[in-house]
Amino acid sequence: MRLNQKKKYPAMAAEAGQPPELPRGLRPYRRAYRNWSGVINPGEFWYCAPRDAEDVIALANWAHRHSWGLRASGYQHTWAPLTVGCDRGAEGPRVLLLDTRRHLTAIEPAGPDTTRVQPGATMGELLGHLQQRGLGLISCPSTGQVTVGGVLAIGGHGSAVPAHGETALPGHGYGSLSNQVTALTAAVWDEDSGCYMLRTFTRSDPDCAALLTNLGRIFLVEVVLRAGPEQPLRCVSRMDITADELFSASNAGSGRTFADFVELTGRAEAIWFAFTKHPWLKTWSISPHQPTGAWKVSNPYNYPLSDRLPEPLARLIARIVVSRGRFAPWWGRFQLMFHWAGLQGFPPVVPSRWDLWGPSRHLLHYLRPTTLRVTTAGYVVLMERADLQWAISRFAAHYRSLLDAYRRRGAYPVTCGVELRVSGLDGPDTCAVPGARPPLISPLSPRPDRPEWDTALWFAIFTFPESSGHQGFFRDLEQRLLATFDDTRAALRVEWAKAWAFNGEAPWTDPHVLEHTIPTGFPINAESRQSPWNEAVDILDRLDPHRVFGNPFLNKLLIAHASG
Ligand SMILES: Cc1cc2nc3c(=O)[nH]c(=O)nc-3n(C[C@H](O)[C@H](O)[C@H](O)COP(=O)(O)OP(=O)(O)OC[C@H]3O[C@@H](n4cnc5c(N)ncnc54)[C@H](O)[C@@H]3O)c2cc1C
Repeated sequence: MRLNQKKKYPAMAAEAGQPPELPRGLRPYRRAYRNWSGVINPGEFWYCAPRDAEDVIALANWAHRHSWGLRASGYQHTWAPLTVGCDRGAEGPRVLLLDTRRHLTAIEPAGPDTTRVQPGATMGELLGHLQQRGLGLISCPSTGQVTVGGVLAIGGHGSAVPAHGETALPGHGYGSLSNQVTALTAAVWDEDSGCYMLRTFTRSDPDCAALLTNLGRIFLVEVVLRAGPEQPLRCVSRMDITADELFSASNAGSGRTFADFVELTGRAEAIWFAFTKHPWLKTWSISPHQPTGAWKVSNPYNYPLSDRLPEPLARLIARIVVSRGRFAPWWGRFQLMFHWAGLQGFPPVVPSRWDLWGPSRHLLHYLRPTTLRVTTAGYVVLMERADLQWAISRFAAHYRSLLDAYRRRGAYPVTCGVELRVSGLDGPDTCAVPGARPPLISPLSPRPDRPEWDTALWFAIFTFPESSGHQGFFRDLEQRLLATFDDTRAALRVEWAKAWAFNGEAPWTDPHVLEHTIPTGFPINAESRQSPWNEAVDILDRLDPHRVFGNPFLNKLLIAHASG
């Protein structure tokens, strides 16, 4: 595959404590790790940038020989400690991060509706390539500046289910990006030769199911993804419906609830700024021709007012808001007005953005990573489609009553708001490979014991990392959600990329959620007589028995559960 040399990276540096000589003339360099929110900021690590798949294999064997650990690294936009954790000491000194963004970025056609992609290519580049070939995805993460490898690792998603009367065209699916994969190539241990080698897995290979959503526990060097025909989209925004109405359980069928909009267009997102009455509702609908009144867009990121905040300014706002907790309601209202002004077409030289139309990729990528640097807790609820509005209303009621309870105590832990989206599940038919299985530990893996659960409601709660008491709030909310979505009418899973398992003081720590809730959310499969969770753990351990691609957090999380 063609190598992409266009990106510039820091000068290589020789320093004390550097790794033993790397294979194939690769040169290490040192750089700080800092995730997007700045919460995971443990200090400096050694990095190198593999040029091709052979470099990755040589590095895996080098790491095994010298007892070093390797971690795949993309844009570091993940909130969770999947690459490295907050504690530099716990990671140990012998860690080499492999930056995929420099060279592993090739994209080329693999067949009429399939595309071969290296993991460091961005989602923006992938969607651009697909568009040129008349192809597209039904939904995907809202930002294009994330790597394909990073998005696959966490089971990245957008917001789409079939609208009333809609049937997906071949190649399209309503689940995660992982479920679009038809084949992948990974660096895995080969028992016979006693070394790491490249191995290609098609979706019909039973082991493939563990690698599709892999949390970075294995290194993918290439994937083949299926896509469907390009379908232009119209995106309509509105702010005229109150949260009471949009999220109400009793109004279902009124035409003004979230589930009603989902029924109508199949694609919806609500952003509900803290302490405000009117959420920002966006709906996307398939629209082959430009509707009258809709503005034709020729690029992604069409909400420029909201997603281009310089980081120092964003940090200053955060400091001001959190320094006086009571500013939070004011800040919520300001955010709503600010976004309203952006939709109106402020500054006045730009057109109104309430109604947009264009190629799907220009409307699916609408959030730049230069938006406010917030931290976020994220979950997904699996349920029957008919229960969507019930689930939304339960979430909204818990969130609002907790926010009010904290406010009565003079506490303002949530300074930004919540985001609600909806998607389908990872049905393996999408990839059209006979014998394909769903990703084993995708948040969207179907529950074989609950075949009627066909819909997923995603919600994320955003706040400034500096907001005092937010860990306690997230813990309280998580406990309420677990009690409500308790596996009877619906079940809660965590969104891998975000924060979860709160103990009241820190995320990713609550032992019950880590050791019980998460693994049992992937319950035993009657066919294989093993839980998908335990199967994934077994496969990943077998393919990397020396845990070259492990890390302290994943080594603790990815362990077999006694029930399965
Ligand atoms: C502004 C913003 C908006 C977002 N919107 C969405 C959204 O709408 N939907 C959604 O699902 N997510 C969303 N995300 C989350 C984002 O999709 C994930 O965090 C994604 O993992 C980030 O990709 P990255 O390139 O930064 O990966 P990194 O953060 O660098 O890595 C993430 C994980 O991927 C692993 N990884 C990277 N490359 C490979 C590889 N080659 N093989 C195996 N593992 C690998 C890493 O080891 C790590 O475990 C958003 C993030 C931001 C900052």
